[in-house]
Formats: sequence, structure tokens, C-alpha cells
Amino acid sequence: MERTLSIIKPDGVSHGLIGEVIKRLEKNHIKIIAIKMIQMNQKQAQGFYAVHKDRPFFNSLTTFMTSGPVVVMVLEGNNVISKYRDLMGATNYKEAAEGTIRKDFATDIEKNVVHGSDAPETAAFEIGYFFNSFEIMS
Ligand code: GDP
Repeated sequence: MERTLSIIKPDGVSHGLIGEVIKRLEKNHIKIIAIKMIQMNQKQAQGFYAVHKDRPFFNSLTTFMTSGPVVVMVLEGNNVISKYRDLMGATNYKEAAEGTIRKDFATDIEKNVVHGSDAPETAAFEIGYFFNSFEIMS
């Protein structure tokens, strides 16, 4: 059993895609074991994306991620990290496979609707960044 962190980013929330993303999770038998809506401040977004701090898009990305509310979720299942990333599609929506969330709804390489952890270690860090143990149903 694996866990991953999902975020419906500000563009996904403002474009009315919360239900659409959750529908795709449930249709694919991915279990949601924690969920909440938050709005990050710049410091929180910078801490979350610290691995990207030297990238040229860091400021733009953290400003975007603080621009409105996001929905953070913990997902659980067999191979859920790669399974959810397959549903998300490639970072650049132009390269994303047909039928993926990003292919269907992203408007920009940055405004790409969803986030998903990329490995078990990052998932553990990212889940702990937003949730305490009482908020996660196991
Ligand atoms: P992910 O794991 O598919 O989300 O991709 P990364 O970890 O590489 O990047 C994190 C996030 O940074 C992406 O989801 C995008 O929102 C944003 N991002 C990635 N590459 C670029 C870029 O070249 N330009 C801009 N503006 N944003 C980017």
C-alpha cells in the first residue's frame, strides 16, 4: 500500500474542476484518505517547492500557488504514486497523453491543474507538510 499527496492547484479550483478531479480518482479506484481546502502564503509555497528553489520559474510558481485556494488530498492504493501521475499526465500539457487531467484542462506549463508526489520519499515529506496523523483516515 502506498500513499501520495495530491493538490488541485488554484487554476483547477477556480475553473470548477474539484469534482472532475475527484470523479477521475474514484472512477480509478483511488482512495481519498484525507482532504481539505487551504490557501498557502508565499513562505508555505516556497517550503513546499524548496527542491525547485534554483529554477528560473520558482518565483512565478510559488506566486501562482498562493494566488487562490487549493484542495490538498492524501491518496492511498497499490502503486498510487505512478497511478495518479498517469492520470495527471506530463508536466507540460502539450506533451500529456490524451485523456489525462492536464491534457484535458491545463492552460499553461505552470497552470497545470494538479500536483502529485513523484516518489515515496517526497510523498512522505509532502503529506507531512499539510496533514497531521489525526487528519488521515487509515
Ligand atoms: P510535476 O511533478 O509534473 O508537477 O513537475 P515538476 O516537479 O517538474 O514541476 C513542478 C511544477 O512547476 C509543475 O507542475 C508546474 O506547475 C511548474 N513548472 C514546471 N516546469 C515549468 C516551467 O518550465 N515554467 C513554469 N513557469 N513552470 C513550470
